[in-house]
Amino acid sequence: MKIKVPGEVQGMLNELNNAGYEAYVVGGCVRDALLGRKPHDWDITTSAEPLQVKKLFRRTIDTGLKHGTVTVMIKNTGYEITTYRTDGDYSDHRRPESVTFSRNLSDDLMRRDFTINAMAYHPEKGLVDLYGGVTDMEQKRIRAVGDPDARFDEDALRIMRAVRFAGQLGFTIEEETAAAIRKHAKDLSYVSKERIEAELTKLICSPHPEKIEEMYSLGITAEILPEFDRMMETPQNTPYHFTDVGHHTIAVMQNIEPTKILRYTALLHDVGKPQCKTTDENGVDHFKLHPIVGAKMAEPILRRLKMDNFTIESVCRLIYWHDFGINDDLTLSGMRRGLSRMGAEHFEDYMKIRNADMEGQSDYRREEKEQTVERIREMYETVMAEGNALTVKDLAVKGKDLMDAGIPAGPGMGEVLSYLLEEVLEDPSQNERELLLQKAKIYYSEK
Ligand code: ATP
Ligand code: MG
Repeated sequence: MKIKVPGEVQGMLNELNNAGYEAYVVGGCVRDALLGRKPHDWDITTSAEPLQVKKLFRRTIDTGLKHGTVTVMIKNTGYEITTYRTDGDYSDHRRPESVTFSRNLSDDLMRRDFTINAMAYHPEKGLVDLYGGVTDMEQKRIRAVGDPDARFDEDALRIMRAVRFAGQLGFTIEEETAAAIRKHAKDLSYVSKERIEAELTKLICSPHPEKIEEMYSLGITAEILPEFDRMMETPQNTPYHFTDVGHHTIAVMQNIEPTKILRYTALLHDVGKPQCKTTDENGVDHFKLHPIVGAKMAEPILRRLKMDNFTIESVCRLIYWHDFGINDDLTLSGMRRGLSRMGAEHFEDYMKIRNADMEGQSDYRREEKEQTVERIREMYETVMAEGNALTVKDLAVKGKDLMDAGIPAGPGMGEVLSYLLEEVLEDPSQNERELLLQKAKIYYSEK
């Protein structure tokens, strides 16, 4: 088995070898190269200790000397060179208390999480695969190195990594490994929210977001996203759906492109449903106001996951608006009001959610639903083509004009402008300077 190692990396291996040390590329890059995926970084493992590594290269960064890691800068790329090591005791279910440097590659491979991540490669010596990583790759299997129970007990982050790799590679988690995950899922409470979010996001944005169902069955979402469990446990007895909220959610994730905002919106767009569910006298379920409730719920969920503000805002907005116009009673003025409140710049994302949501529903009245979406699109095009005012900035009068007309600056001014915008959203022909000035004066004097 041959791997094409980049020139810079070959150079570093040579440098270390010429100085009398062993050195291999290792971990994710070996896995990805063998799978025909492009490795995003090349890590090196070596018998040289950090200070010895630093002597050999001109530009280095002390990334984690105690853990054996030195980053070598070549041109503008950093390469991590880590000394062979074994990990000491884990007492916090996350990190070893100490690490000990070793002379043996086999020690270093043993500490790694999964067989597919525990392979090393050297251009002359070839592949070192002590744990059956190649076989597991062929069988599309995520399997812990050594005793799975002990490995997840040591470091609970590996639980998230297992499912994340399953999603990225389309692999399944081997049985004993899965059993150990189930047993240790509770230990996720020891892992920082930031690390959980990072792994969850990689899964959600992977080619197989449906693996989140495995997170559910293994008890992972119960720890990190119990709201998802509620969705999985909420059937939808309505002709519009063929499955429960959770499976519908998974379908919507699969139907939408893998950006963070769109995938998290898909994940949470119906999070309000379990709470909003009512059943009528015919036994049909309804979920009134679930977009509003869902948007409210999503905010603390995403905050809890330490998500960045931009993502939180964008996702909550899209959840709030995801059912906009679906009752097919939308008028042009309703479209303008919607665009004004949602922000016209978010319309395309809303459309993507709209379509993915529809594709995740039953075929019942499918044609009508498609026509509704088409009409929404046409109305949007009309409003945009006509250049209708959608924000206060688009009004034919400015605050300054109103001040000149005797309306004092301050909060009252904002109220007048909002009133004028509402008038113009209702009827764009009202967006004339004189007309608006007159309206403003009347509105202000009557207040
Ligand atoms: P990615 O493509 O996401 O970078 P990766 O496998 O390279 O995947 P890294 O987090 O970059 O993952 O880690 C590099 C290597 O270090 C892994 O391949 C694995 O061998 C080892 N490793 C990383 N995290 C752990 C962990 N929590 N427990 C054991 N080994 C780990
Ligand atoms: Mg990596």
